[in-house]
Amino acid sequence: MARKQPDPALRATLDEVKAVYAELEKRPLQRDCQMRTQCCHFRLTGKTPFLTLGEAIYAAQGVRASGRKVMKPHPEGACPLLGKEGRCTIYAHRPFGCRTHFCQPAGGMYPRKHIADLIHRLEALDEKLGGDGSRELEPAVADALDDR
Ligand code: SF4
Repeated sequence: MARKQPDPALRATLDEVKAVYAELEKRPLQRDCQMRTQCCHFRLTGKTPFLTLGEAIYAAQGVRASGRKVMKPHPEGACPLLGKEGRCTIYAHRPFGCRTHFCQPAGGMYPRKHIADLIHRLEALDEKLGGDGSRELEPAVADALDDR
């Protein structure tokens, strides 16, 4: 059976989010995420990534690709997308906030002045899609999963 293709609007959304993430990778700021997942333990850090709508849609695509259809709360209050083996289950689709994270061993938070243009692109996409601005990861991705 032929694989269902994403509609053009969805494809454009995903392409823009991917382009922003690819641009971030090219920035000359050295970061070394070693997947220690410290930043994924929300209850411990007291910090949760916020996502624009395009990011949430892209993350939801990653959730579906991992074989899940819903978000289940993590038993220890960590990110619901943190797998049992302690790894992000949507690493390639992880949101911008997870890439510019607050993990000190990985280099600490990106200075905003170096990524403000990328944040603006994600916000512009959110507005274009009719989003409500950045939202907490769990409800943002859960709603994006519901909408497709
Ligand atoms: S999406 Fe992945 S990298 Fe981001 S907080 Fe959740 S588990 Fe961690």
